Amino acid sequence: MFNLVLFGPPGSGKGTQSENIVSTYKLQHISTGDLLRDEVSRHTPLGTEAKKYMDQGMLVPDEVVIGMISGKIDDARDARGFIFDGFPRTRPQAEALDKLLEFKNTKIHLVLALDVPEAELTKRLLGRGETSGRSDDNEDIIKKRITEYHSKTQPVANYYNEHGKLETVTGNHSITDTFKMLAKHINKYLLPIK
Ligand code: ADP
Repeated sequence: MFNLVLFGPPGSGKGTQSENIVSTYKLQHISTGDLLRDEVSRHTPLGTEAKKYMDQGMLVPDEVVIGMISGKIDDARDARGFIFDGFPRTRPQAEALDKLLEFKNTKIHLVLALDVPEAELTKRLLGRGETSGRSDDNEDIIKKRITEYHSKTQPVANYYNEHGKLETVTGNHSITDTFKMLAKHINKYLLPIK
C-alpha cells in the first residue's frame, strides 16, 4: 500500500490535483470536504452538525471527522493506497490517522504540500464561488477559512516535517506543470498505471 496526503490551503488546487493523481496512480480518493458536503446534502445528523461549522468557514470538530474517515478506510480494504485530500487538518487528526493506519499495518508514506500565494488563493476561491454554488465561497467566509488554515492546519505540515515525510511544491504554475512536479515525488514510491 502507498498512502499520500495532499496538503495545502483552501484554493491551492488539491481537488484538481487529486483527480490527476487518482487517474494516474489508481489510488482511493478520500476528501473530507466532499464527504462532509455529501452528509449535508443528505441531511444526516452528522451533516446537520457539520454544516454549522462549514457555513462559518470553521473546521468541523475532530471527533466528527475522524469517526467519518475511519469507516471510509475500512470500506476500501483492497485499495492500492489512499490519497487523503483536505485531511488531516489538525494535529489531533494527523495523530488519529497514524493510529488508524498503524492498526492496518500501514502508514502515511508521503505528504505533498501545495504552496500558493495568499492573493492568488482568494482570487481563485472568489472565482470558484461564482459557479460552485458552495455557500462557503464568499469573501468573508474565505478569509475565515484561510485564518483557520494558518492557526490549525499549518501545524500539520510541521508534524509531517518532523517525521521526514513532507515535500513542498509551488502550486501557482499551470495545472499540468504542477502535476508533473507532484508526480516526480510520487514516482519514487509508485509507478503510474496505464
Ligand atoms: P477547502 O479546502 O477549499 O476549504 P474543503 O472542501 O476541503 O475545502 O472543506 C470545506 C469545509 O469542510 C472546511 O472549511 C471545513 O469546514 C470542512 N472540513 C473539510 N475537511 C475537514 C477536516 N479534515 N476537518 C475539519 N473540517 C473539515
